[in-house]
Amino acid sequence: NEIKVLDMGAWDFVPKPYNPKILKFRLKNAIQRSRLAALEKLKYLAEYDSLTGIYNKYKFFSATKQMLSNYPEKKFAIVRVDVERFQLINSFYGLSEGDKLLIFISEYIKNICENFKISTYARIEADIFAICMPIENVTYRKHILSARKALKKYNSSYDIVPKFGIYLIEDPTLPISIMYDRASLAAKKCKGNYINNYAFYDKSLSEYIEKEQEIVNEMNNAIKSEEFSIYLQPKYSLDENKFYGAEALIRWIHPKKGVISPAEFIPIFERNGFITKIDYYVWEKTCKFIKNQIDCGKTPKPISVNVSRLNLYNPKFIDTVCNLTKKYEIPNYLLNLELTESTYIENPELMIESVEKLQAKGFIVMMDDFGSGYSSLSILKDIKIDVLKIDMGFFTKTKIESRSLKIIASVIKMAKVLEIPVIAEGVETQSQVKFLKELGCEYAQGYYYARPIPTDEYIAFLEK
Ligand code: C2E
Ligand code: CA
Ligand code: CA
Repeated sequence: NEIKVLDMGAWDFVPKPYNPKILKFRLKNAIQRSRLAALEKLKYLAEYDSLTGIYNKYKFFSATKQMLSNYPEKKFAIVRVDVERFQLINSFYGLSEGDKLLIFISEYIKNICENFKISTYARIEADIFAICMPIENVTYRKHILSARKALKKYNSSYDIVPKFGIYLIEDPTLPISIMYDRASLAAKKCKGNYINNYAFYDKSLSEYIEKEQEIVNEMNNAIKSEEFSIYLQPKYSLDENKFYGAEALIRWIHPKKGVISPAEFIPIFERNGFITKIDYYVWEKTCKFIKNQIDCGKTPKPISVNVSRLNLYNPKFIDTVCNLTKKYEIPNYLLNLELTESTYIENPELMIESVEKLQAKGFIVMMDDFGSGYSSLSILKDIKIDVLKIDMGFFTKTKIESRSLKIIASVIKMAKVLEIPVIAEGVETQSQVKFLKELGCEYAQGYYYARPIPTDEYIAFLEK
């Protein structure tokens, strides 16, 4: 029994009959040992991250400080790493999937750091990691540049984009927390930037970040208190000069700052993932509006809504849209969906699949801002888009207007060959209308016809 019990991990074994004095000593030892073990555990918890087993923030700060003072002659950088829109992976695939990815990333960072003789690395919180590495040679850049490809291997349907904020340490006596904050500021600079997934700290960053932070702080509350509202911009058929539908565009009616243009907040929401909430909000308001029209005995016109590319990474995206039209009992062809080229560039297969599924459900899919990206032609080869939208503003506000008009003309001609109707956006002048009519462009939208207007004005407009 004694061998068996000790083998199973018991700290001690006291056979009967026992000597009370000896038992007292043995108990004292056991208590001592248990305290030590608890201390060890506490120490571990205080220094290591429980999910990934690497240093936590505090240990990172102290170990990095130690390392910098041990090697005063060496140059180092603090690098902050996080995964763009990690919270979407948690909410779309569940927490345990998110945890798995974090463990994978910590292993990946561990591997990178093995290339340097000295370095520290840690999980700071949530999906944020930090590394302090020597920068004498350029290999540190190589590792950062190859990270995206390496993480892509984890799961190709996630689109994991790691972002690196880099602070090149000038003064090694600065508190590590300040160095880390600078790396974080740099990281914000490259958030949402599809081409560059790393950025370096420089002093001018602070002000720009402050403004963005203000918007982020207010956004959740703003959606709850219904500060967002939709404006509708009428669309016209060119040959009959008749109104035939509208596009829903969001406005933020801020209690203090007044109307904030989407150009100011949409890019921020795209960076932090909040855009999927805003989009859903607009889709729902639009469905409600169409339903109201039907209930009032009017013949509803189709309204298009914008679909940010992030939605496509939600496996429930199609169901979500279908559930909305079902909930408000409106036919799917009345809710038109505008997608942009950038979605296609990022993940062509996903875009092709999503568009086909939407069309199979009876939705009309429009390609927004067509021609402004780099892959317009291959989109047309791969996807049977229902409608092309081209923005006159993109082209005509360039130096050589005659050339811009030629590009627009050739896009419209090509669309004709492919039998895809075109909406020209940003139409502002009579001469533009004439030009478009001559080319046989089907539809137009722009200040020449109407500006985006609040829904009550739009209803009044319909009754005219
Ligand atoms: P967009 O989807 O290309 O929308 C057209 C933009 O052009 C709108 O700007 C509209 O007000 C503006 N516009 C219309 N006619 C004219 C014109 O004749 N001349 C000029 N110069 N501009 C005209 P807005 O409403 O400021 O929206 C800007 C962008 O913000 C939109 O571009 C769209 O990308 C995004 N956005 C707006 N609402 C939403 C939304 O609910 N969800 C998402 N994901 N994006 C939205
Ligand atoms: Ca649009
Ligand atoms: Ca557009």
